[in-house]
Amino acid sequence: MIKGTTINLHDRLRALAQNLWWTWHPEVISLFTDLDPHLWRQVDHNPIAFLNQITPEQIEERASELVLHSRINYAFRRLNEYVEKDKTWGMMHCGNLNNRPVVYFSAEFGMHESLPIYSGGLGILSGDHLKSASDLGVPLIGIGLLYQQGYFNQSLNKDGWQEENYVNLNINNLPLQPVLDASGQPLLVRIDTRSGPLSARVWLVQVGRIRLLLLDSNVDCNSSDDCALTSRLYGGDDRLRIRQELLLGIGGARVLQALNIIPGVLHLNEGHSAFAILEESRRIMDYDQIPFHRAHRRVTLRTVFTTHTPVAAGHDRFPPDLVEEHLGIFRENLGLSHDDFMALGRINPYDKSEPFCMTVLALKSSCRANGVSAIHGTVSRLMWHSLWPQRPETEVPIGHITNGVHVLSWLAPPMYQLFETRLGQDWPTRMVHPDIWETISEIDDGEMWETHQSLKMRLIRFVRRRLQLQAERLGHSDTLKQIDQFLDPDVLTIGCARRFATYKRGDLILSQAERLAKLVEDTSRPIQIIFAGKAHPRDDEGKRVLQRIAQYSYSPASRRRVVFVENYDYNLARHLVQGVDVWLNNPRRPLEACGTSGQKVVLNGGLNLSVLDGWWNEAYDGRNGFAIGYGGMHNDPNVQYLRDANYLYETLEKEVIPLYYERDAGGIPHLWVQRMKHAMKSLGWRFSADRMVIDYAERFYLPAASAVSTVTR
Ligand SMILES: *Cc1c(COP(=O)(O)O)cnc(C)c1O
Repeated sequence: MIKGTTINLHDRLRALAQNLWWTWHPEVISLFTDLDPHLWRQVDHNPIAFLNQITPEQIEERASELVLHSRINYAFRRLNEYVEKDKTWGMMHCGNLNNRPVVYFSAEFGMHESLPIYSGGLGILSGDHLKSASDLGVPLIGIGLLYQQGYFNQSLNKDGWQEENYVNLNINNLPLQPVLDASGQPLLVRIDTRSGPLSARVWLVQVGRIRLLLLDSNVDCNSSDDCALTSRLYGGDDRLRIRQELLLGIGGARVLQALNIIPGVLHLNEGHSAFAILEESRRIMDYDQIPFHRAHRRVTLRTVFTTHTPVAAGHDRFPPDLVEEHLGIFRENLGLSHDDFMALGRINPYDKSEPFCMTVLALKSSCRANGVSAIHGTVSRLMWHSLWPQRPETEVPIGHITNGVHVLSWLAPPMYQLFETRLGQDWPTRMVHPDIWETISEIDDGEMWETHQSLKMRLIRFVRRRLQLQAERLGHSDTLKQIDQFLDPDVLTIGCARRFATYKRGDLILSQAERLAKLVEDTSRPIQIIFAGKAHPRDDEGKRVLQRIAQYSYSPASRRRVVFVENYDYNLARHLVQGVDVWLNNPRRPLEACGTSGQKVVLNGGLNLSVLDGWWNEAYDGRNGFAIGYGGMHNDPNVQYLRDANYLYETLEKEVIPLYYERDAGGIPHLWVQRMKHAMKSLGWRFSADRMVIDYAERFYLPAASAVSTVTR
């Protein structure tokens, strides 16, 4: 950390920009917006790009005009204090992880729109995990991949069909520092495969107190194909996929070795990184001169595995030839035959037709495994029962820890300030205690409603700006003329944003067009809907669902009240979850593993309207939001679709809309606001990432770390 008073403002701002701590500190963000609001928006909220476009002299000048010196110095001091603080939850409770930290592997990390190395929920969850581990002071290191083209930018054509655009990120505009080896050269890790070596360099991203190490295959010694290996998330075929996972798992574990970091716990967030188990086993074999099965057993004791999807296609499976090509040399070093090796990833070790499944490897090699909500735990035990055929289903060793969100990243600053007046200044450090949230009852209904309305207005202005750009590109001249009439802050506003996987049924609310039209066009109590979300580039069925919504939103009758905003990302998500009245989530039960966007909504005063699946199945208490149906399922997805559609309309017509429009003389919907407050109180602490990380630490990390403290390494 840079210290002292000799460094100038530009350097201080650069130090702030280099640590993603700024992303959850609005007082730092406001420094940049105050310095140059136009430039800040132009660089897509990227402080490094911002500083690369403005000279130290310009900063001094602007700071003097605006009297920003003391605010910049204060922010800089706060960052230093934060990083050096030693009285944290982790210091008090996780002492035995200090020398041997948790290493958290994930194929994606979503921390902010300016570092687009995530595609959706899994990445946002990993980012929130790092941020909460940082706030709590849990000793943890993240391992991921640097994608030079990120996921993709989405635009829709005139027919409402999704088009994908890829742009190369400019490394100089990202908060990356090269990781160097002992001789001061850029650290390179190398993996030998039957088709030649594969190398990667390593970057460090600082996330508060936490280090995130990203592998990047774009190095001279790789072939041009391999240079592009890490350019996109989830692109390409199985071969590209296994090569990415080789880098993440084996490459990631080798980075740790090069930096002399011995993991106390391996936490595999999803199966993509499961090869790390094997590399860690190899290290122990070498060090202790023991055979593979003993080393593997030892690694298993301290491996934690989190599975995220009840959908079969979400689990990577590789055919034997790809495994042999990429891991043949490696398995010879482990002293394993091809069949022995394949058996590690097979449910039935002797079934030669079975591919190598990363989830199976992870489940066989971890003593602690979990799904991400209570219902997902149950679904996962059923799904993987065949791995433990001798046990009853309830005894399958997969538990659950329900996901949560990083509160300070998702809570809008005006709502934060409102909380502060009742919960006390230090509430963020005590947010996992339910009792401090009780004081939310004391917030005046009018004040709460006004804060919410101002956030909704902010969302509407943001959406109109985006719709204007879309309409200009598509040549929708009628839309352009009316843009100021799009969306009305006094109308019940429903947000519906998600990945357009078919099981999420994004178009459920369109299924009975006349019934929807009645709700949208009602003169006294109308609704409006803001849609957003990306379909996977190769998921044509998902794209068709998206197209149906887009076309509906283009039609003259509904376009002022039903809109589709392109390019769902962190920024759009933040505006949406902070500004909507109602968050609609209607996946096909029980296929939603958890869902976290509804948790972000709760913090900001929105109410959930959701199928009883994922987190909502355990969160809904009858008074903190709305349920679609009663948790029923049907073998025929079409029957379930029709039923759920009916439940959805019914709940809207009979519960949501009447409650929303029931106002006092001053226009305040008191019963609605009661629900908002009750949701915040009953859910805010429970579905925070702080609670989640503490659960992982107490139930998994600490027991796993002490399981091996008796052995030497
Ligand atoms: C929170 C978030 C998600 C997760 O969405 P769910 O549908 O609730 O799982 C996905 N994408 C972005 C950008 C998010 O912020």
